[in-house]
Amino acid sequence: MPQTLYSDQKGIPVPNKLLLAASENKKLERIATKSKLTRPIVQRYVAGTTLAEALDVTEQLNSVGIDVSLDLLGESVHDLKQSEAATAEYIRVIEGMAPRSASATVSVKLSQLGIVISSESCEKNLRRLLEAARAHGCEVEVDMEHSSVGRETLEIFRRCHVEYPETRVAIQACMRSTFQDLYEFGDKPPKIRLVKGAFDEKVDVAILDRDDVTAQYQHFAKWALANLPDPAFGTHDDACIETVKRTARELGIDKRSFEFQMLQGVRRELQEELVREGYRVRVYLPYGTEWYPYLTRRMAEKPANLLLFLRSVVGS
Ligand SMILES: Cc1cc2nc3c(=O)[nH]c(=O)nc-3n(C[C@H](O)[C@H](O)[C@H](O)COP(=O)(O)OP(=O)(O)OC[C@H]3O[C@@H](n4cnc5c(N)ncnc54)[C@H](O)[C@@H]3O)c2cc1C
Repeated sequence: MPQTLYSDQKGIPVPNKLLLAASENKKLERIATKSKLTRPIVQRYVAGTTLAEALDVTEQLNSVGIDVSLDLLGESVHDLKQSEAATAEYIRVIEGMAPRSASATVSVKLSQLGIVISSESCEKNLRRLLEAARAHGCEVEVDMEHSSVGRETLEIFRRCHVEYPETRVAIQACMRSTFQDLYEFGDKPPKIRLVKGAFDEKVDVAILDRDDVTAQYQHFAKWALANLPDPAFGTHDDACIETVKRTARELGIDKRSFEFQMLQGVRRELQEELVREGYRVRVYLPYGTEWYPYLTRRMAEKPANLLLFLRSVVGS
């Protein structure tokens, strides 16, 4: 049974907070989306604007032994029609991807499938996606978003997991509820992607101090290796990666029984090094035109990016 380790009260750094706040600012989004100066940053983290471009990048990654999880950008939908259109687009992604990359998965945010508009419709959309994925021998990964939709995301996932146990869910190590959330799956534990957590959360729901989050991540990683089926570790942090490798060795777990996941554009050399060492590696590969919220969260993970980002927006 996993246990929560920390209950600190320290806040996250101001630059990160600014960027996370910027991720929801529509005015900045309009400026940044139009600006030519943001292009190099976008190209680093995003596979392209079309499915065809994303599939080309998929094949390049596959050729060096790296799997992908395709993510269709666009998390803010405003009505049921848009969420149904996003679901249909995701099904098109599965149909296009399956013949070209047998091991690829798709990652989806339930906000894109309409969770904020209607939980019931969102679940229906997710089930359509899961059915299409199964028909094409492909798997779906459910991203975890801000805590304002996190609980509902987990509940929908939990219901779908009964019929589609092959589905993976992202679990944020920073959340204070993570221990309870995992425990509640009982004797049918899910496949998870363990991540630190990318959203600006309040201290009552999340651990905020980065060192404590790292320690919590390492704690859950050890537990996941010992207790969960085919766990995935979504991290670029050397300390966390080392913990996973060491624990697997100590428990005698085969290198192919779990996977490392990283973001497109981050630590590519490390991704290839892990492949050479015999580990499974999957890159989270976003594509589409609505890159702004995704990209600002990536900027927030590396404070040195703040200046780069501000220059792109202010310089426009
Ligand atoms: C495959 C994958 C899926 C994810 N899915 C989710 C999700 O569903 N929900 C969620 O809340 N979060 C998700 N995240 C984001 C995650 O929560 C973290 O915010 C992010 O991974 C940064 O944490 P880290 O473990 O890499 O450690 P950090 O300590 O943040 O980073 C370690 C090192 O990695 C490098 N690095 C990390 N991020 C970046 C970056 N953006 N740009 C450049 N260098 C960087 C830096 O060198 C840094 O020092 C996902 C991350 C990955 C890798």
